[in-house]
Amino acid sequence: MMTLTVSPSGERKIKQGICVLDERDLLSPKVEDCLVQLVNQTGSFLGQAYLSKQHKGIGWFVSRTKAPINHTFFESLFLKARKKRELIEQVKETTAYRLFNQDGDGFGGLSIDRYNDYALFSWYNSYVYSIKDDIIAAFQAVFPDIMGAYEKVRFKGPAKETAHLYGQEAPAECTVLENGVAYQIFLNEGLMTGIFLDQHEVRGMLADGFAAGKSVLNLFSYTAAFSVAAAMGGATDTTSVDLAKRSKRLSESHFIANSLPVENHQFVVMDVFDYMKYAKKKGLQYDMIILDPPSFARNKKQTFSVAKDYHQLIHHSLELLNPKGIIVASTNASNLSIEKFQKQIEKGFNGRKHHYLQTNRLPSDFVFNKNDESSNYLKVFTIQVE
Ligand code: SAH
Repeated sequence: MMTLTVSPSGERKIKQGICVLDERDLLSPKVEDCLVQLVNQTGSFLGQAYLSKQHKGIGWFVSRTKAPINHTFFESLFLKARKKRELIEQVKETTAYRLFNQDGDGFGGLSIDRYNDYALFSWYNSYVYSIKDDIIAAFQAVFPDIMGAYEKVRFKGPAKETAHLYGQEAPAECTVLENGVAYQIFLNEGLMTGIFLDQHEVRGMLADGFAAGKSVLNLFSYTAAFSVAAAMGGATDTTSVDLAKRSKRLSESHFIANSLPVENHQFVVMDVFDYMKYAKKKGLQYDMIILDPPSFARNKKQTFSVAKDYHQLIHHSLELLNPKGIIVASTNASNLSIEKFQKQIEKGFNGRKHHYLQTNRLPSDFVFNKNDESSNYLKVFTIQVE
């Protein structure tokens, strides 16, 4: 195994417990797709890492010891990960959740989700993909009850982005439960599955009646999971807006999975900014507006970035909100601290009186690296206008 020297800032980072590595953390020549030993500038051993480029960083620090990164290593990580999720495993009303979460569970570049009795592996770089047989074998030893598995390849490379991995194949129409609400999912079509599992506390709040008696506008709705949770919790009507054409069919299927009549629920395929203009012109008003945009989006007319433009979403939402209305402002942008996100929100309120009712971060199954704030990426503020 190659030995590489880290820079002083890289050493500080590793000592602090940050696992994701950047170019500037290493001094010696860089290699791709292999395990390396890291030493500091005086030659002291710091630990093992692997190098492999992905959308974030050039590799991951994985161990402070010299013990091999093999089947035994992964089996012990999976045992710990399963133990941490003992409680959620017993909750019969929730059958989909995260089983293994990157550096929070001891190995960056890998996440594994549970959808009923199926596992979904996400490989974030080509190194983790190259050792997948070891990872899968260790997983099967710890989770013999998982009947079949799928994979998502979340890096650019020759592999197909999704495939069946082992065991039984899931039925084409598959429904999972979360807080007793059914969601229609698809395990083997593209990179998305129909539900973002990291939002289950927010959906739980809605399903528990937070939107009862309210009209809800759900912007950037994808499959309208927030809308179905709100409807199950007693919302009078919901409007879900997303520009992706297939969002409408997928959204309806969540409602049908819960035997909810779709009459009071609208699915609009439109640009959110156009919809907000349209709604303002028509004088449409809502009691609750949910905002959950992608961190960055570009269309023919404009680009949107959470870090720079979120305030506009708040500003336009205030024009559509009933007195004492509620805004649920969410972002999964890992490059934006919670303080900066709140600044964007405050800029949007522009002095208008409001108060914060609740803050949601990642749910407990999304175990994050406590030493790296950027791995606790989800930020959701529930705010009431006065
Ligand atoms: N809130 C969703 C997840 C949103 S993912 C949930 O809880 O499941 C982001 C979504 O924003 C995608 O479905 C994408 O199609 C949509 N999107 C991106 N830019 C948009 C725009 N300008 N107008 C409407 N939808 C947009």
